[in-house]
Amino acid sequence: MEMMEIPEPKVSGDHDVKIRIEVVGVCGSDIHYYLKGKIGSQVVKYPFIVGHEGAGTVVEAGPAVTRVRPGDRLAIEPAMPCWECDQCLAGRHHTCRKLRFLGCPGQADGCLSEYLIMPETSCFPITPNLSFDEAAISEPLAIGVYAVKQSIPMPGSRIAILGSGPIGMSVMLAAKAAGCKKAYMTDRIDERLSCVKLTGADWTGNVDKENVTNLILQHETLMLDAVFECCGQQDAVDQAFELLKPGGKLIIVGIPEFDRWSIPADLARRKEITIQNIRRQADCVETALHYIADGTIKVGAMATHRFGFNETMKAFEMVAEYRDGVMKAMIDFRI
Ligand SMILES: [Zn+2]
Ligand SMILES: [Zn+2]
Repeated sequence: MEMMEIPEPKVSGDHDVKIRIEVVGVCGSDIHYYLKGKIGSQVVKYPFIVGHEGAGTVVEAGPAVTRVRPGDRLAIEPAMPCWECDQCLAGRHHTCRKLRFLGCPGQADGCLSEYLIMPETSCFPITPNLSFDEAAISEPLAIGVYAVKQSIPMPGSRIAILGSGPIGMSVMLAAKAAGCKKAYMTDRIDERLSCVKLTGADWTGNVDKENVTNLILQHETLMLDAVFECCGQQDAVDQAFELLKPGGKLIIVGIPEFDRWSIPADLARRKEITIQNIRRQADCVETALHYIADGTIKVGAMATHRFGFNETMKAFEMVAEYRDGVMKAMIDFRI
């Protein structure tokens, strides 16, 4: 990874917005690109700018822009769909046939740079009571909100979230906001478990230190309504099939580093388990921002570490090695 001088981007389209980046959150997917140079079939060609969890200030707006004006503080929605293909017309713009996504190889450079041009449809102005950190964190939180929306009715539900990183935490916060009764969470990192415990998880267990499946089933003899896989590990999927009750739903949110999941055919069939995959999110940024703005969800605890722009590589190293109990590292362009 290196810092490079590039030309300052210019507003060229009528609906373009030029944004000064203030804060960028480092995401697990950025780390996949940093360490492996790819996620599945999406392969990075160097040089490439990563980053997609950004917040900034509008410095210039194209002549047709109506959503924002210079000076507005923004959460940036990283997806730039075409709004015209079959997927977009069906309301599935997150799986747009011509999707461009910030920091996604072959689609668009990311937001780890001082200035960024985005279409106005990706710009979500934030209220004065929101910080740039919270605006940037609305991106992963929106994925949690979306995953919960695709799962089961939350009021009274008993669920497990396997993986307590930023996405697992986002799922938990969204589930609790939607009325989830009991959320059991697991991870390998104790600091992450304390963080989610403090912010709403009802029970936490470290998979390296205890038999989490047995312990959860001791509390939940009828087993769980839904399990969210949020770490991309085969062990977690195996645990999910043990934990789910007949008719339960497995929601796969994590990104595995391998190519195929293995599903226990017998358990999956006898329990008639539904499996729902999650691809990022659609239409949940606004809900996420509302939850934060009205105090329903507090995300502050997710930002555990902060680095200046020129320390970006240090931030990536720390997240890649899960050092110092890092939950989310924020790159702060103002320091
Ligand atoms: Zn992300
Ligand atoms: Zn489209």
